[in-house]
This record gives sequence, structure tokens and C-alpha cells, in this order.
Amino acid sequence: MQIARSVDRVRRARREHESARWGLVPTMGFLHAGHLELVRRAREECERVAVSIFVNPRQFERSDDLERYPRALERDLELLAGAGVDLAFCPATEDMYPAGFQTTVSVGALAEPLEGAARPGHFDGVATVVAKLFCLLRPARAYFGQKDAQQCIVVERMTRDLGFDLEIVVCPTVREPDGLAMSSRNARLTPEQRRSAPALHRALERAAALFENGETEAETLREAMRETIGGEPLARVDYVSVADPRTLAELETVGDEALLSLAVFYGSIRLIDNLSIARGG
Ligand code: AMP
Repeated sequence: MQIARSVDRVRRARREHESARWGLVPTMGFLHAGHLELVRRAREECERVAVSIFVNPRQFERSDDLERYPRALERDLELLAGAGVDLAFCPATEDMYPAGFQTTVSVGALAEPLEGAARPGHFDGVATVVAKLFCLLRPARAYFGQKDAQQCIVVERMTRDLGFDLEIVVCPTVREPDGLAMSSRNARLTPEQRRSAPALHRALERAAALFENGETEAETLREAMRETIGGEPLARVDYVSVADPRTLAELETVGDEALLSLAVFYGSIRLIDNLSIARGG
């Protein structure tokens, strides 16, 4: 596995295999089985696989969250080498955003609700870094996790709007045996918080079950999610949502499909999860 620690090096590594079909998996590191599932898919479907590890300061609106974001670069690189990755790209912040950098890619309405409302500027940071990664690595396919459903929607929109010639592949959320969605942030939970955290998934499952049983009132589904989280003394709801999966607008009535999502604080640690529901699915 080649390791490129700078923009120049990654461009050169990309050019050495100019005509290959590359798969790109963008990450912020501290890799877990969810990331490795994206890598596995890319390995299966592409001639060459690149993984970026970059804790992107522009997508953090809280400096304490950025500082405390877990990092384990050497271990990550070992995992990626073991997973058959061809190129790992782990640039320094000053290399991705050198002095004078002043361009922002900003997606419109799809980036406004949910995570966009809770974390102002977050999706500008995501779209800007993903666009830069697409330009540097020119992948034929880029792999993202359903775990960050709105991120997938925003990146798909940006890809179409800016004419990037690549396919966005969305991979299912990988979960712990107790249902908790894998996340680098889980490592920061205390044992008590960790025991409580599967409540996010339980809340989603409960709302999905109500829908299965014929409930179409979106507020009833939201209330069910709030109630489940409310039963956890260590948890605090940031938002619960039942939204149109295409526009992300909040629904009053659920028709054929919806995206259930929620964000929950455990102390200063914020966890998110989501579930797609569909009539007959
Ligand atoms: P991150 O390092 O958190 O920025 O995540 C990098 C990529 O891995 C994103 O596309 C995430 O959606 C995806 N990802 C993170 N956690 C999971 C998970 N539990 N299952 C599937 N994909 C995930």
C-alpha cells in the first residue's frame, strides 16, 4: 500500500495508474468495521482503491469536538494495508487548506435541515473537502455510509450539480450486535453511556414498527422516538425527524416512504442514526 501524506504525492500516485478505475472511500480515520465494509465493497468493485484519512476541521463547528475526535493513524494504516487498499491519503491540514485557501462548496436546501441546522457550516465543510478529494483522486466510484444519510444526499446532489463523472455508492449501516451504529465517536462513551446508546436504534425500530402496523401520522412516530430516548436518563434528544427521503422536508403524514433520523447527546458526545421505512419494505 502506498501512503501519500501530501496533495502532491497523492496526485502523483493517482497518475501512476491513470487509466485504472479507482474507488475512493473518504474517512476521518479511527477506523471500525463500518469503514472497512465500505473498503470491502470498493475492493470488490474497483481496480484500485484509495482511502483518505483526514479529520476535516471545516466540518466541525465545535472546536472541542474537533480536538477530542479520536485518532489512531498508524493503526488505521495497518488495517487498510490488511484490507488490500492500494493508496492511503492522509494529508496534513495545512496541505489540504494552505494559507490563502478561500473556496467553499455549498449545497443548498438539502444541506439546511437536520444535521445542517444542528451543525451550522457542517455540510459546507463536507462538500468542500469531498469535492477536493474528487478532484485529486478522480475516482470512478466513491463509497459512503447510510449511517450519514443526509451526507449521502448532499454529496449526491453536489456530484450531479458540479458534473463530477463518478458514481456515489451508498453502503448499509454496520451495527454492533446490540444495534448501536458503529461510529468513531462510540469510543468516547463511558461504559454506562455505551450501555444506554442502543436506545437510538431501538427508537428507530419502534417508530418503524408503528409504521408497519399502519401508523401514518409522522408526529406519532416522532413522539415514539422521543419517548424511547426519554426513558434513558443519560441521553438527551437533539432532534428526531420523519422526513421525505428526497427533499428532507419534515412530513405530516407518511405516504409510501420516509427517512427516520435522530441525533442524541450523551454528555458532550453526539450520536446520530437513521432508518429508511417504506410501504411493503
Ligand atoms: P467518518 O470517518 O465518520 O467520516 O465516516 C467515513 C465514512 O464511513 C462515511 O461515509 C460514513 O457514513 C461511513 N460510516 C461511518 N460509520 C458507518 C457505519 N456504522 N456503517 C456504515 N458506514 C459507516
